[in-house]
Amino acid sequence: MNEIREVLVSRDAIREKVIELGRKISSDYEGKDLVLVGVLKGGFIFLADLMREITIPVDMDFISVSSYGNSKSSSGVVRIIKDIDVNVSGKHVLIVEDLVDTGLTLNHLKELFYTREPASVKVCTALDKPSRRKVEIEVEYEGIIIPDEFVVGYGLDYAGKYRNLPDVCILNA
Ligand code: 5GP
Repeated sequence: MNEIREVLVSRDAIREKVIELGRKISSDYEGKDLVLVGVLKGGFIFLADLMREITIPVDMDFISVSSYGNSKSSSGVVRIIKDIDVNVSGKHVLIVEDLVDTGLTLNHLKELFYTREPASVKVCTALDKPSRRKVEIEVEYEGIIIPDEFVVGYGLDYAGKYRNLPDVCILNA
C-alpha cells in the first residue's frame, strides 16, 4: 500500500454524510416510487450503505459504464456496458454515484434515463470535485466536496485496486 499518500476523507466522515443523505432522501421521497440506480463499479459500496439508511420502501438496480481503464483522466466517452433491468417508467430515479468529476458520465446517464419516461431523475453522489466540472450538472444530494486530487477507496479504484479501503485516500502522483 505504499502508493497511498494520505487519508482525505475518513470512514467516520463518510458514515456521517451517508446517514444525513439517507434521512433527507427518506423524507423527500416519502410516498413515492423510488428506484436507486447505482453506477458500477465504484458506486456499489455507497449504494449499499445509503440504502440501509433509507427508511422508505425502495427498489434498486445497477448500471455499468465504461471507466477510465488504467488512466487517471476522463476520455469523455461514456459507454453503457450493463444496463438496468428495472422498468423506470413513471418512477422516481435516483442515480447513485461514487464521485462526480467532469460531470460527463452523469450528464450522459441523466439524458439516457429521461428517455425512459420516469417521474423524475436526480443525482446523489458520495464525493464531488466541482472544480473539475466540464458540463454543468445539478447534484441534488451532494456528499463530501473534495479538492482536485486523484482518490481511491470506498469503492474507487486505481487499475482495479484499492476499492476495499474503508477511507477515501490520495494516491501518490
Ligand atoms: P466524470 O464523468 O464525472 O468525469 O467521472 C466520473 C467517474 O470517474 C467517477 O464515477 C469515477 O469512477 C471516476 N473518477 C473521477 N475522479 C476519480 C478519482 O479521483 N479517482 C477514481 N478512482 N476515479 C475517479
